[in-house]
Order: sequence, then structure tokens, then C-alpha cells
Amino acid sequence: MRLIDPHIHMVSRTTDDYQAMALAGIRTVTEPAFWAGFDRRTVHGFADYFRQLTEAEPARAARHGIDHYCWICMNPKEAEDQALASEVLSIIPSFLDHPRALGIGEIGLNRNTRSEVRVLEQHIELAAARSELVLVHTPHLEDKRKGTRLIMDVIRNEPRIDPGRVIIDHGEEHTVPEIKARGHWVGLTVYPTTKCSPARAADLIERTGVERIWVNSAADWGSSDPLATIKTAQELRRRRHPEELIQRIFCDNPRAFLTQSSKFRG
Ligand SMILES: [Zn+2]
Repeated sequence: MRLIDPHIHMVSRTTDDYQAMALAGIRTVTEPAFWAGFDRRTVHGFADYFRQLTEAEPARAARHGIDHYCWICMNPKEAEDQALASEVLSIIPSFLDHPRALGIGEIGLNRNTRSEVRVLEQHIELAAARSELVLVHTPHLEDKRKGTRLIMDVIRNEPRIDPGRVIIDHGEEHTVPEIKARGHWVGLTVYPTTKCSPARAADLIERTGVERIWVNSAADWGSSDPLATIKTAQELRRRRHPEELIQRIFCDNPRAFLTQSSKFRG
């Protein structure tokens, strides 16, 4: 089985992680642009990061037999400075042209401010104009449902965006049904402490079915686990789900979404 972890921040992970993932059967990863843990202050900082995502990290992954793709955007946490945001938005298209860039992500909202909403709208306009896939991060707040709905409303306001080409990530029990009802794909993120545990992700899959769902680790510089997808597959096996279901969730589904970009060959 050629597993895909469709959301992982490998720039924050070690070579040992790549080795462990390759040994466990993960053959393809996709890496959204995200917040580095501190605010980048200049457009050059973003340009260097986008070069790392499109050039350096695919080369590092290839040394372990892992195929690496990425997503490009400016994170909402850094969107308060409108002048910087427009500078960064002006360099994004040239990085989206890269053969390893699958689309725009992970965009979304953090504190739901007007600046964040404006920068989200600009990314959505760009995605519509270029027919890019979109990967959306939803906030980890207690008002997750409200934040998720706000983001989906911004997407719905852009009629050129096909909802089936948008994945809304970090879905939970109270957001998954509405995300699916709007025609989007949904991502479940399995984390050791916050977000979903493998058991909770398995419960959610049993309740909502496997249609338009993928599972990812979203492993980054915080407490997270690059083998979270494997552990969730194991939990489903322990519950005696057939291999076909596991194949569908961890291989076929992410491939079906990602091959909507002609660049994806995983
Ligand atoms: Zn992420």
C-alpha cells in the first residue's frame, strides 16, 4: 500500500522522521505553507520559505524515496500587515507555477479579523483566476464551527470555485457534516494531544463514512506525530475494517482529490 500523508510540515521535521515514514509505507507527502512559529517580517522571508517548499524539501524527501509536493500561501496569522500581505501575494503566482506546487494552502482564519478575511478573499480570488486547488486550515478555537462556516461562506461567495476542489482540514464531529453538505472534501488531523486521536478519527469515519475524507498528521514543529496516519490505519485494522477501506482512506481518497491537479503523480 502506497500511503499518502497529504498534510505535513516536513521543513520542521528531521531526517529520522523521513526514514521512519518511508519504513512505515508512506510514499507521498504534501506540505502546505504555514506559520513558522514566528512572524516573517519581509517578502524575502516568504520567498526563501517558498523556495524551501518547492525545491529543497522535495530533494530531501526524494533521498528517502518519498515524493514531496507543496501548497503556497500566506498564513492568516501574518495577514495583519496589509502592505506586506500584498507584496507576498504578488510573488505567490510565480511559485504556484512550480511543478511541485499543487495549489493554494493552508489558508483560513485565525482571529477572524477584517484583515484576515481580506487576505483570505484575495487568496480565493487568486485560486479562482488560476483554477488552483485549495487547502483550508480551520481554527482550533472553541468557536471552530463559526470559523469554519465563515471561511466556507467566503469560498461560496466566489462562484468560480468548485467546492469539490477545496479541502477543509482539521474537521471535527461538529463540523464534518456541514463541510460535506457544502460539497467540499474534509481532512481529519490526528494529533497526540489536541485535535483527533486515532480512536476518535476512527469513530468519526465509522459515523460519517469514507466519502470525500482524508486523514493527515499535520505534523509540524509542535507536539505532533509523523506516523499518525499509520496509527489511525492500525486502529481501523484493530476494529476489523477491511483492507479495502484502509486503502481508500489513506491512498485512493487523497489521490482522487490531489489528481484534480495535473501536476500530481503520487
Ligand atoms: Zn498545517
